[in-house]
Order: sequence, then structure tokens, then C-alpha cells
Amino acid sequence: MLPETEINRVLVVTAHPDDVDFGSAGSVALFVDKGVEVTYLLVTDGDAGGNERTLDNSGMAELRRTEQLAAAKAVGVTDVRFLGYPDGQVTVSLDLRRDIARVIRQVRPDLVITHHPDRNYQHVAPSHPDHRAVGGAALDAVYPDARNPYAFPELVKDEGLEAWTVREVWLNGGSTPNHWVDITEAMDRKLAALQSHGSQISHVEGFLDFVKSRFAAWAEQAGLDEGHYAEGFQVVTTA
Ligand SMILES: [Zn+2]
Repeated sequence: MLPETEINRVLVVTAHPDDVDFGSAGSVALFVDKGVEVTYLLVTDGDAGGNERTLDNSGMAELRRTEQLAAAKAVGVTDVRFLGYPDGQVTVSLDLRRDIARVIRQVRPDLVITHHPDRNYQHVAPSHPDHRAVGGAALDAVYPDARNPYAFPELVKDEGLEAWTVREVWLNGGSTPNHWVDITEAMDRKLAALQSHGSQISHVEGFLDFVKSRFAAWAEQAGLDEGHYAEGFQVVTTA
């Protein structure tokens, strides 16, 4: 694995508002504590999410962007970018690969955190089609698109964005995690971030207890003591 001291910039690529907060906001908070620059890239605005049938789609998109900005702030992240793809319709297209590769070349991250592109057969929720598509496109953008100057040559020609090699990727939501981050000291901030997504969680009874038990279970799987919380990832070396 990449030594922690060599991680100076992190890019988190997700499908919807709230994905980063469920999957990795605790790890993000710990990176921010160490002075690492973290950028969020959201492929959709989450306009097909929520429980409120009276809002039209555009109202939902705006609300969810606002919620994500607040959630990012709760863990110290201020650079949040949206690609505005339609929620529920994401595919691994060349356009999406180029759009992610563009941001990789702009941000020049050492580490990318994104969704696992394979279906998880133990739980359905992590494998939303948008999640799998974004994970696949992000991995394609890491290798080969962002590092190959001949991939999407307009990025160099028109935008002056030189090739960039991401050295490691952490995948969320897979069934075979091999790296756990002890997020106990950042758990309050992760919960605050999650609570920023009122349109998604305000109707869920016992939400905080559900989240705590989920991440306590990860900690147990990671072999941590009782009272600890952990986030799990599959690490992919991409250097
Ligand atoms: Zn999602």
C-alpha cells in the first residue's frame, strides 16, 4: 500500500450525494486532519432520490447539492464538483471516462476513492447500477485515460491538462475488503455529514443507531476492540 506520508491529495468519485458520507467520510475526515487536500466529484445530483413526491426533479437536484456541500463541510472538505449526469441513468460511457479523467488531471490525486464496479452478492444496496458504472468509469479514467496523453487528446490540446498517474485506488461497497480504517475519532463528524442529507434520511427511524451498528460491525471484522468503528475498502495498486 501507498505509505500515508505519500498521500497528499485524494479525489473521491461517487454517483450520488450521500454516497461518500456512507462509504468514506470518516476516512476523509482523518485525511483532512493530516492536512491532505480532498476533493469530491459527484457524477449525478441525486435528482431521483428522496421521499418527497411534491418536489420536481430540478428542486431535488438543487436541494441535494446543498446537502452535499453541508456534509462535505462537516468533515472539512470545501472542493466539491458535480458533473450533472441524470440520476439512475449512468453508464460507463466515453463521455463519463473523459469527464472523470479531466478532474483527475486537474486535481492530480495520489489516491482515488470510488465505488466497487462489481456487484456485491451479500447486500444489494452498494451495487446500485449508477455505483457500478461510476466505479468502472473511474477505474478506466485512472487506467489508462488520465495517464495516457493520447487518450482524449483534447484535454491536453484545448485545456492544457497534462497526463497524471494515480498511484492507488480504494473501492467502496465490494464484498472483499482488504483494508480497514479505524474511524472512531471521526465518527461524530461522519454522523454529522450523514445527517446533512435530510431529504434522504429524515424519514428513516433509528437512522443513527443503524449507521453506528453497521460501522461497528466493520470494526469487529477488522479485529478492533468493542466501541470502535471502521470503514472498509478494497485497495487496488494502480501505479
Ligand atoms: Zn448512491
